[in-house]
Amino acid sequence: MPIYDRKMETLSRGALEQLQLERLQITLNRVVRNVAFYRQQFDSRRIDTLSIKSLDDLRRLPFTTKDDVRMGSPYDMFAVPLRDIVRVQCSAGTTGDPVGVGYTANDIRHWSGVIARILAAAGVSDQDFIQISFPYGLMTGGMGFHYGAERIGASVIPASGEEVHRQITIMKYFKATVLVGRPGYALAMARAMAEMNLRPEQLNLRCGIFGSEPWSENQRAQIQEQLRIRAYDSYGLSEIMGPGLAGECEEQNGMHIQEDHFIAEVINPDTLEPAPAGEEGELVFTTITKEAFPMIRYRTGDIARITDEPCACGRTFRRMSRVKDRTDNLIFVNGHKFFPSEVDEIIQKAAGLSPNFKIVLDRKEGAETVEIHLEVTSDFPQLDEIKALERMRESVARALVAALGVEVAVKFVQPASRLTAGGKKVIPIEDRRKQDGQRK
Ligand SMILES: [Zn+2]
Repeated sequence: MPIYDRKMETLSRGALEQLQLERLQITLNRVVRNVAFYRQQFDSRRIDTLSIKSLDDLRRLPFTTKDDVRMGSPYDMFAVPLRDIVRVQCSAGTTGDPVGVGYTANDIRHWSGVIARILAAAGVSDQDFIQISFPYGLMTGGMGFHYGAERIGASVIPASGEEVHRQITIMKYFKATVLVGRPGYALAMARAMAEMNLRPEQLNLRCGIFGSEPWSENQRAQIQEQLRIRAYDSYGLSEIMGPGLAGECEEQNGMHIQEDHFIAEVINPDTLEPAPAGEEGELVFTTITKEAFPMIRYRTGDIARITDEPCACGRTFRRMSRVKDRTDNLIFVNGHKFFPSEVDEIIQKAAGLSPNFKIVLDRKEGAETVEIHLEVTSDFPQLDEIKALERMRESVARALVAALGVEVAVKFVQPASRLTAGGKKVIPIEDRRKQDGQRK
């Protein structure tokens, strides 16, 4: 498949790092002059940004957190006069209040450019009809992909947040070939198509670019099978720019990070030191071309790994893995820690179980306990099935203990709906440990 911006996307590592350093120095110069927050951050640590002379020196700069960005008016973080701002948008606000961000005309141009690269990497061209099912408006998904799709010369169908059955009617009517949206929404569309007695062959859809929520290889397989398309992962966040930070190529094996616009690091969220090469940790991004809303070492809270192994597609940008989870979801039990997504992975693999479950944390005789409430799919089993159920319970418990490294009890409960109104899967966690503490 053609590489949209061949010169940049295939730069040698040396040339890329030189470009990154030059752009980083320009960005630091801009933020020190124009953003009081950064000036104070650096001054209080006696950091002279002119002393940042290599990419390794970047590590001497302090991190920026979501709380830093949320403090005060969004305009406090702008590095250009307000007359140069051509658009404002908001972060999704999955944790706390939304955060306002802004763009200059150049920022919008760069944003469209990286989205165009990501679409091209998934095989999208000016021949395609791209249906965008991200909501338009303040969130960055809809507008971000819209401009990138136009840049590539494709025809955009701005279906936005239309109701799912209507979305399919639109898709059929306009003969959409590409779907952009949340992976969970794609699965909801597949279910709705079944309700409408519509087979995937009756549509023209051939590929989908998904993002904005964590998803698994298992879900990718389901989407590809149920919609008969190739499903690609993409990554972005509004504080950095919006969608388009990274996207998969035809190899479907990790997302190329747009490294001429962003410097990516992986840190250990506890020690804040760099994670060993190729190992999992929290993603940290520094923008190096943003004019309106530059971010220096922004802690994303997203857990992933980055590989610098060459990719068969020829692009030289490093690749990041799927986002496994968020640091704020981490569960600490008896000095060990694990992610709800690790439990999810085991449950999804076990045959004969409903994908829904609940994690219950409690304290018994001084020790913290973990109980996983699994749902039985049909009526409670007959007597002769109880043995089979017990075997399943034991095998799931063994797999969980092995994966999480903590003692886990497994209990079967009656089914309950685990979907929010927006359709995103939420893993419920009931933490009874705090209530316990209050009673004492
Ligand atoms: Zn590739």
